Amino acid sequence: MTNEIDRKQARGKVIVVSGPSGVGKSTIVREVCRRADDVDLSVSLTTRKPGPDEQDGRDYRFISEPEFRERIEQGLLLEYAEVFGNLYGTPKDKVDEALAAGRSVILEIDVQGGRQAKAAYPDAVMIFILPPDEKALAERLDRRGRDTADVTEKRLDGASNEIAAAWQSYDNMVINEDLEHAIGEVIQIIEQALRGEETAPEPDERIGDE
Ligand code: ADP
Ligand code: 5GP
Repeated sequence: MTNEIDRKQARGKVIVVSGPSGVGKSTIVREVCRRADDVDLSVSLTTRKPGPDEQDGRDYRFISEPEFRERIEQGLLLEYAEVFGNLYGTPKDKVDEALAAGRSVILEIDVQGGRQAKAAYPDAVMIFILPPDEKALAERLDRRGRDTADVTEKRLDGASNEIAAAWQSYDNMVINEDLEHAIGEVIQIIEQALRGEETAPEPDERIGDE
């Protein structure tokens, strides 16, 4: 496995990474961006309050709801959604700047936002991260230690909806059991997409397709 995205003839793409809260998305995409020279990570806007280890401008841009609504009005967001009672959205300018420079951009966003991004950028690469099982997801949310018990419960409740909704729009599924393995799979999916190869299995190979 190469640890760098193959740059040859690569044109930048939008890469959507979704998955239930606590599954390991941030951990994976941060590492993918560190290893790949020409892949950027989009920093989302949110009205949620920062967690103890989170830094404004690195993890999110933490803004107020009126500021968020103003950006919607001005058409500055590529996509946005309300998740667990807070607004989250992707600023459009950074994504378009990166694509114009031939770079790829990872959007770590929810399934609702992923659908909007796919509509805006039809060649977006859609990757969904799954936990090995429900227990592992609960443990990771706990270990992250950012949320109160009832917020954690809301996130766990949301997980099955998010997973059920993903089958329709995401053609690449990665199980994050062993972290290193999951990072390698995500890099491979991106490499293949940038080389213009089909990354998704044929429809009749997909689990869940009739
Ligand atoms: P998300 O961004 O999907 O909400 P995070 O990346 O914040 O999730 O990960 C949640 C927690 O799970 C973190 O403490 C992280 O270190 C841990 N984690 C991530 N991947 C794995 C893995 N493969 N095995 C065990 N723990 C993991
Ligand atoms: P968290 O509060 O755990 O950081 O994020 C909660 C959910 O919001 C996750 O599913 C995350 O992927 C999603 N999210 C984060 N940023 C964005 C964004 O810019 N747009 C959308 N639609 N969802 C986002």
